[in-house]
Amino acid sequence: MIALIKKVAGYLVSAGDVVALTGAGVSVESGIPPFRGKGGVWERFDPMEYASIQAFEKDPAKVWRVLLSELKRVVDKAEPNSAHKGLAKLEKIGILKTVITQNVDGLHQKAGNTDVIEIHGNFAWHRCMKCDHRTDTQSIKLDQIPPKCHCGGIFRPECVFFGEMIPLEAMWRSRQAASNCDIMLVMGTSANVQPAAYMPIIAKKSGAKIIEINTEATPLTENISDHILLGKAGEIMNLLITEIENCRQAELIID
Ligand code: NAD
Ligand code: ZN
Repeated sequence: MIALIKKVAGYLVSAGDVVALTGAGVSVESGIPPFRGKGGVWERFDPMEYASIQAFEKDPAKVWRVLLSELKRVVDKAEPNSAHKGLAKLEKIGILKTVITQNVDGLHQKAGNTDVIEIHGNFAWHRCMKCDHRTDTQSIKLDQIPPKCHCGGIFRPECVFFGEMIPLEAMWRSRQAASNCDIMLVMGTSANVQPAAYMPIIAKKSGAKIIEINTEATPLTENISDHILLGKAGEIMNLLITEIENCRQAELIID
């Protein structure tokens, strides 16, 4: 494993343009459960019953009571972990350009990344469905379910429910970033949800190396990924950052 970490660190240090594609797995170490897999939210809830726009429009109180209030409680207190912090550091030292994320928790921005494309929108803001008034999620009170705006309209998160369109600009920018990168780090995503799962395929077709970081293999591992670093995203990122710092120091000494 250490040999592979060194190899990947070397690729990252010499790459021109690195993009990360992240999924729910990068926020697991911040206490936010993923959707699929062990401990996933979908072991307990049927996505179509709670996370589709049809379900929300039919019975917003039910979706707020079961899914959104729990998500809000978890996201309100979540802090970036080593995976988010490592990506922020990679941007700061000029290695990473863009993060494309399927996550709605805002933790990449909180860690310090400045170019974050949120394919599935975000849970940091809510919007009144009647008058369009926007409010940050922390200001939403759960003493009435569903939470309501001063006009009486119901608040909904600015994230994309199943059955809704992906924001066009996010889609367009993600495709651009994927087709122009030299390396795509694919972290903590089961690569089951489209169109996000297509981004590594676009990157690969455009000549990029694909490096996966995940606790288990995914549908990309066999044919699309060049390497998989198996383990928790935060732990792997710490190892990578240490190795990258060693490479950079060695370069400074040689210069
Ligand atoms: P997913 O739940 O389908 O898959 C999670 C992946 O992360 C799995 O492949 C799993 O093996 C891996 N994983 C779990 N723990 C890990 C860890 N510590 N380190 C590295 N990898 C780990 O997630 P997805 O592919 O992002 O798709 C789910 C959808 O659900 C997304 O569209 C996203 O919008 C939404 N979602 C978001 C959040 C969030 O914002 N934090 C949380 C849950 C779900
Ligand atoms: Zn309103």
